Amino acid sequence: HKYVYDFAEGNKDLKDLLGGKGANLAEMTNLGLPVPPGFTITTEACKAYLATGAEPAGLADQIEAHLEALEREMGRRLGDPDDPLLVSVRSGAKFSMPGMMETVLNVGLNDRSVVGLSAQAGQNDRFAWDSYRRLIQMFGKTVCDVPGEEFEHALEEAKRARGTTDDLDLAAEDLRGLVDAYKKIFAKHTGREFPQEPREQLDLAIRAVFESWNAERAVVYRRQERIPADLGTAVNVVAMVFGNLGPDSGTGVSFTRDPASGAQGIYGDYLANAQGEDVVAGIRNTVPLQELERIDKKSYDELLGYMARLEEHYRDLCDIEFTIERGKLWMLQTRVGKRTAAAAFVIAGQLVDEGLVDLDEALHRVNGAQLAQLMFPRFRLDHEFDPVAKGVGASPGAASGKAVFSSDRAVELAAQGESVILVRRETNPDDLNGMIASKGILTSRGGKTSHAAVVARGMGKTCVSGADELDVNIPQRRFTVGEHTVEEGDVISIDGTTGKVYLGEVPVMPSEVVQYFEGTLDAEQSDNPLVRAVHRIMTHADQRRRLTVRANADTAEDAARARRFGAGGIGLCRTEHMFLGDRRELVERLILARTDDERENALAALLPLQRADFVEIFKAMDGQPVTVRLIDPPLHEFLPPLEQLAVNVAVAQERGEDVAKEEALLAAVRRMHEENPMLGLRGVRLGLVIPGLFAMQVRAIVEAAVECAQRGGDPRPEIMVPLVGAVQELETVRAEAEKIIAEVVGESGVEVLIGTMIEVPRAALTAGQIAEAAQFFSFGTNDLTQMAWGFSRDDVEGAFFWRYLELGIFGISPFESIDRDGVGRLVRIAAEEGRAARPGLKLGVCGEHGGDPDSVHFFHSVGLDYVSCSPFRVPVARLEAGRAAV
Ligand code: ADP
Ligand code: MG
Ligand code: MG
Repeated sequence: HKYVYDFAEGNKDLKDLLGGKGANLAEMTNLGLPVPPGFTITTEACKAYLATGAEPAGLADQIEAHLEALEREMGRRLGDPDDPLLVSVRSGAKFSMPGMMETVLNVGLNDRSVVGLSAQAGQNDRFAWDSYRRLIQMFGKTVCDVPGEEFEHALEEAKRARGTTDDLDLAAEDLRGLVDAYKKIFAKHTGREFPQEPREQLDLAIRAVFESWNAERAVVYRRQERIPADLGTAVNVVAMVFGNLGPDSGTGVSFTRDPASGAQGIYGDYLANAQGEDVVAGIRNTVPLQELERIDKKSYDELLGYMARLEEHYRDLCDIEFTIERGKLWMLQTRVGKRTAAAAFVIAGQLVDEGLVDLDEALHRVNGAQLAQLMFPRFRLDHEFDPVAKGVGASPGAASGKAVFSSDRAVELAAQGESVILVRRETNPDDLNGMIASKGILTSRGGKTSHAAVVARGMGKTCVSGADELDVNIPQRRFTVGEHTVEEGDVISIDGTTGKVYLGEVPVMPSEVVQYFEGTLDAEQSDNPLVRAVHRIMTHADQRRRLTVRANADTAEDAARARRFGAGGIGLCRTEHMFLGDRRELVERLILARTDDERENALAALLPLQRADFVEIFKAMDGQPVTVRLIDPPLHEFLPPLEQLAVNVAVAQERGEDVAKEEALLAAVRRMHEENPMLGLRGVRLGLVIPGLFAMQVRAIVEAAVECAQRGGDPRPEIMVPLVGAVQELETVRAEAEKIIAEVVGESGVEVLIGTMIEVPRAALTAGQIAEAAQFFSFGTNDLTQMAWGFSRDDVEGAFFWRYLELGIFGISPFESIDRDGVGRLVRIAAEEGRAARPGLKLGVCGEHGGDPDSVHFFHSVGLDYVSCSPFRVPVARLEAGRAAV
């Protein structure tokens, strides 16, 4: 089994085996860039080690052979007393996990080779002892778990003794003293002397890198970023080059474009006379990369040349780590760099302009989550507003409001019309009502998978979690941060994208991307490169996508906005709200009707109101399909709560008032009381139980359509029957509806489709039968998820989902992203069997999954015709539908 690859043997496509760092080092080597020689131990060796706790058979020999080859190539032996080869031992997994795992530099130094190193560097004792103390520090920390602060303290102590704060002022003898101090620290914590044998150093360092895969912070990071836990890390053994040899040496990082904005230019930092770790650690202030031109023009020009080559080769933004050793440039790492959402779009557009990628490829370089981020309102920030703390951007958005410290208080103030931000150490299921009432949530503990973060994302509510600089005092209803104290009622602002927390109210503005979608900003005229890039990529997505994107909209305004955002119709128009407000009384009359006359009168009063609603919606969506769902929720939602009504009746009786009407109402409420309304009298069941209800709705829809058509419009109504589980239910409703349609449509030319939701598992499983009676299916994936899993969204998300996520039972809430294996399978079965029974059956989705990127790809792959989502998500769904198709 081959466990070790020379850099010359690998390439960039071997990330699974060699990790990202190893694969890219190999790629650069083969491109002819100056990479110090070295070799990579595979992720498979790591996995074998982690599974058994021992290096797999053959690994030691292969390392030996590659080390010998490296020694031959370098003309030096590892740790040789006179002229030592030193190496770095570097982690590197398939996915970049910045700073999560370990790297040890200068392996091979010991009490003897430190002298040889100095001699080889022209009697540069300072450099040699600096390198040695770094080895003991990194090796101690990484390989032997010696607390890093102890080394830091000793370093501070040495600087104080020298009367300086800059490590460059430490002389050779100071560093030599530091080596002694470090060795004592090492011995104290490990019970052994610092290992002098170079090969033992190497083996222990390799082992430590293997084990760093399971370090706690790495585990937490993987969970957050949804990186599989079983990939393992590769280990790169690289000949050392030295940036700490003097002022003509140094180390730096660079980006081929600005990872924040995407702008072209030269971005990076450089630090003279330092080793790589110092740049990230912020030990000394770096200078902008442009300065390097002045310091070492030859290396600078060479670096710029390599940057251009790497960009061209990877056809994307690259980030780079490099070191200069006495005027000689060495490339130590590259990868396709991380970037902000805005930069992703801008760069994708630029790469098309530059001819490096085509528009299909540009679509792959961006995603719906990034687009969604660009659509959140922004704080309008200027110098007046400095953040007082920074936590985790757990759920994006920008929210301002009065700080409150309990759920009850949040609910109370929100009821008075106040905007509030709920501040807690961490939230728990008891905080749910407060979270719902708040504009945003701020916690001082927990990360991206904490209760607060998960629930807030589910609700689409702004959340900053884990702002640990805040000292939150719940009983006293205040928090302190630095010298500031925020009492209940003080206004704060939180940015759920950046995680920043501000005092006072920061003004908010709509993002330019939204202005573009709204049609108030013309992309072609805009000088904002982001808007131009979004326009270009969206246009291409629209050309490519096979899925139509519709919107869920219950009002004419929503319909109009959805249309501006690019919706091709309404996939779900709910009719429930049309029964609320002033109309509630009519519904009460309908429910309480004791005779056919009473009931018909109530329905007759509702008819014109419903018709007027539909006229407005058909007008807003003229020429596009509008799917109207017949009334769905349980009737008790329209009636007063049982307990309260009972009390009112009792009080009135006591006073001797006439309570005949209230008593009738109470009796009806009692009669209709359900233990489990979710699974009770709702949807089609209601239509079959209350004569005339569905008929009235159908009549209102068709009359509205005819009215629009007569005024020259092009209404396209689709009537959707909810909660069907058996074809007989649908047939009954359909027979009644067809009579009404035939009667009302007359000569108007209006065409009306009748279809059903597929949201009860039985409907999915008998889709072949149901398709005989349905002209379309619309998957109600919210209910389908609830019923397939047997839990109700309202009851479980806050109660235990956080725990399920923590345990990895789901990677993501099945209400957020479709559960492909379970619920998705029901969708697939229904789509296949429905189409087999009725070729050309129209298929769509109207659950919230319709706007979720991953779910959109799934719906594309099972061959649906459209997805429907909230108006605001329409652009995201358009983009993802385009991406799914290329
Ligand atoms: P990370 O994955 O955390 O970036 P790296 O393995 O890249 O860790 O190493 C940390 C730092 O050490 C980097 O700045 C890198 O450039 C530097 N470094 C690694 N190997 C060598 C080497 N062989 N010679 C000089 N510097 C090195
Ligand atoms: Mg690195
Ligand atoms: Mg439903």
